[in-house]
Amino acid sequence: GAKAASQLLSPQNARDLFDSVDAFLFDCDGVIWKGDKLIDGVPQTLEMLRSKGKKLVFVTNNSTKSRRQYSEKFRSLGIAVSEDEIFSSSFAAAMYLKAIDFPREKKVYVIGEEGILEELELAGFTGLGGPEDGKKTVQMKPNCLFEYDKSVGAVVVGLDTYINYYKLQYGTLCIRENPGCLFIATNRDAVGHWTDSQEWPGAGCMVAAVCGSTEKEPIVVGKPSTFMMDFLLQKFHISTSKMCMVGDRLDTDILFGQNAGCRTLLVLSGVTTISTLQDPSNHIQPDHYTSKFFKKL
Ligand code: PLP
Ligand code: CA
Repeated sequence: GAKAASQLLSPQNARDLFDSVDAFLFDCDGVIWKGDKLIDGVPQTLEMLRSKGKKLVFVTNNSTKSRRQYSEKFRSLGIAVSEDEIFSSSFAAAMYLKAIDFPREKKVYVIGEEGILEELELAGFTGLGGPEDGKKTVQMKPNCLFEYDKSVGAVVVGLDTYINYYKLQYGTLCIRENPGCLFIATNRDAVGHWTDSQEWPGAGCMVAAVCGSTEKEPIVVGKPSTFMMDFLLQKFHISTSKMCMVGDRLDTDILFGQNAGCRTLLVLSGVTTISTLQDPSNHIQPDHYTSKFFKKL
């Protein structure tokens, strides 16, 4: 059925929300930072929530970094966040392979960046590809055979600023020719705001390229898929009714929270504007929305 329109978060209902929630799941880009710039009020808000004993979790669809790299990024912005509070889609890809008992002797081909390779390695898997394959080219001469590893059992696709025809051929052959080879997407975000002034193509277009050549649909492990949420719930044993997902995107963050039965808070500091939220064609309504954080309550 239709969901009631979102309510603007007032100091009063913010207090009620915060009192009834034990864990906050924060999206990162557009909520905590914009690119490399911290969003106003974030350190104070996180500090306030920690002082009230709230569990904080950071969930990002950006697969280019590992959890270790995100923890460093937080530190460089003056916020202490440990690796086990971070759930990136790069980590989710590795945890998915672990959850399905992906055979260690098989390899994983990566159309993506360093973060995915690092998480695969930390989880004990052998990754191939990544940035290194960004300089390789293909030979399309009559008797030239494209060499690829027959022991690749999964192809992971995320945002790849080094994407090229070599990588597409590699991933495509693995998925089409290696028996049972999995096709995994870290996320399908259409665009992102990596810089203040413009939008950029997100991982969705790299994933779509591989859908096009393989005629297959991927397993998505990032938001809004349920994999990341199920993994989180297993790890923290918090009931979803006591969780609040805070995000800037309706079709990833808010949907991710709502699908699981979490409370949801949209912040207008990222990609969603008030007019998108209130547009009659938008069917995703968070419980609350706010344009800024309340640093104190
Ligand atoms: N994917 C990439 C490659 C990004 O750079 C970003 C944000 O910078 C995102 C996805 C979205 O990340 P988040 O889920 O933290 O908003
Ligand atoms: Ca975001």
